[in-house]
Amino acid sequence: MKELTEEILKFNEDRGWGGNHDARSLAISVSLEASELLEHFQWISSEEAIQKDKQAIVEEAADVFIYLLQLANVLDIDLKEAVQQKLKKNAVKYPIPTNL
Ligand SMILES: [Mg+2]
Repeated sequence: MKELTEEILKFNEDRGWGGNHDARSLAISVSLEASELLEHFQWISSEEAIQKDKQAIVEEAADVFIYLLQLANVLDIDLKEAVQQKLKKNAVKYPIPTNL
């Protein structure tokens, strides 16, 4: 995760990007890229969307993650730790049903 973030930051730095990459702008960008991902599924089934252009879906998913990693960096969030903590919280909130 840290290596990926550094790679993204270097990519931006090499191009003179990132000056306006504050938390608000990055959070907006996560949402915008998620919408671009959703667009591929609009009006068609999952199967049709994947068959039509899986590569585009892959790239939009990557865009979401690229912005999320930058947001985590700006907010000093350890995403791996955050996910593990959230799963623990969710496990309490949504216990495994006993009737399964
Ligand atoms: Mg995109």
